[in-house]
Amino acid sequence: MKNIVVIGANQSGLSFAKFAADAGFAVKVFEAKARDQVAYDWTDDMMEETFAQVGLPLPPEEIHTRKRSWTFIPPSKCVRVFVPVPEEELDFAMYRRPFNAWLEGMAVEAGAQVNYETRVDRMLIEDGRAVGVVLADGTKVDAGLVVDCGGVNSPIRISLPDDFGIEQQIDPYDTFVVRRTFFNRPEGTKRPQYTNCAYLKHLGEGGISWCLLSYDEQRADVLIGRLGKMTDARYKNALADLRRDNPIIGQTVMTGGELLRIPVRHPIATMVSNGYALVGDSAYMTIPMLGSGMAAGMRAGRFLADVIADPVGDPFSVENLYRYQKKYMKEIGAEHSAINMMKNWLLKAENEDIDFLLSKGIVNKKMLVEASAGRMLRMTFPELVSTGLRGIQRIDLLLELALLMNRMEKQLAVAQNMPEQYDKEALKVWREKYEKAFKN
Ligand SMILES: Cc1cc2nc3c(=O)[nH]c(=O)nc-3n(C[C@H](O)[C@H](O)[C@H](O)COP(=O)(O)OP(=O)(O)OC[C@H]3O[C@@H](n4cnc5c(N)ncnc54)[C@H](O)[C@@H]3O)c2cc1C
Repeated sequence: MKNIVVIGANQSGLSFAKFAADAGFAVKVFEAKARDQVAYDWTDDMMEETFAQVGLPLPPEEIHTRKRSWTFIPPSKCVRVFVPVPEEELDFAMYRRPFNAWLEGMAVEAGAQVNYETRVDRMLIEDGRAVGVVLADGTKVDAGLVVDCGGVNSPIRISLPDDFGIEQQIDPYDTFVVRRTFFNRPEGTKRPQYTNCAYLKHLGEGGISWCLLSYDEQRADVLIGRLGKMTDARYKNALADLRRDNPIIGQTVMTGGELLRIPVRHPIATMVSNGYALVGDSAYMTIPMLGSGMAAGMRAGRFLADVIADPVGDPFSVENLYRYQKKYMKEIGAEHSAINMMKNWLLKAENEDIDFLLSKGIVNKKMLVEASAGRMLRMTFPELVSTGLRGIQRIDLLLELALLMNRMEKQLAVAQNMPEQYDKEALKVWREKYEKAFKN
């Protein structure tokens, strides 16, 4: 059977639907929300190269602009590290609603069927294999493959039987709880020198905040995100602090403000089972440092479509689908898992240590750009020497960092070296090694 059911019609689900329909599969997408409510009402950043990587044309000019360069601020605010990136290297800032409409148009043109306001209630399983889904109104839809793009709290992943071997729940402390709100910019407020300020461990708390001048320059785009949970009191306190620093934050909420959750951890250790595959946030494919997940979700969709279009044996068997996970880990997930170690280290670090690292340029501009893009940076020998000289007063901290880098390299190697073929026992051994770095 060549039917595929996709759960979720945000950009991971829509991209995969297009790629799979292009490859000749009959694809049905089911999305719980209304069409105009799926994507956020704002821009989000994505690397331009993603489109070429997945074989899509560049989106029309009117649905994206260029992101502006970041300024990073450590907990004590003792320094503002502006990271200027040349215009042509800046990420695209995608207007997410028209972006989704563009992806949906291509998916439908390729033959996929996209159904909104149609919640998938559960998965149909026979003899340990996914064989379709049951919709909220009780309709059964058969499928050879169910692709779960249902997001970080995918109800399908959470209710999988144990014999699928897939971790169902995410630890809340592996997620950022964020509120992103656009406030009016009070009339007469000066245009800030730094338009995109990111506060690392803002107020010494585990997480980040940002204040950006919106592209129309009429609003302040404010994000407050904390690991695990965020109380109202904590949110208000952080907002008050941002207001003190950023007069562009007015009192009127223009849009946003919903409490959302983003996975910020290493990719899930098992992404596939017979007739089932996870793609996007449901498999924690975001960059752990910032929570960006659009590019990885789209690239994963491409990998999966390629693997089923050119299968070894049964396209929807776990043995064939495993090739998708292996490619994902090798090309993207392994680096994300190493970056997650850096994120965990930064969260545990003393505030003064982060102040020191940023103010001395030890965590330098290049590193910040690479980590934000989900890549690891390796220093050249002269860079190492100059870093050592700048950080000489805190040799203990430098040593700690060097050890961290070493552990990250090892993690990268483990994550990239999954067993060649699907083998349940070999995978169990790999999984233990892969997860070890994240056990307390
Ligand atoms: C404030 C904020 C800022 C961000 N900034 C960036 C950024 O700058 N760059 C970037 O790349 N990423 C960013 N992200 C992350 C990005 O939004 C996610 O990585 C991306 O949306 C994940 O897409 P997805 O399609 O995998 O999952 P989701 O976006 O979570 O979509 C899942 C979809 O599945 C649907 N669904 C769930 N259950 C069911 C069901 N039972 N039946 C039917 N449908 C179901 C949901 O309604 C939802 O539409 C940001 C996220 C937030 C919250």
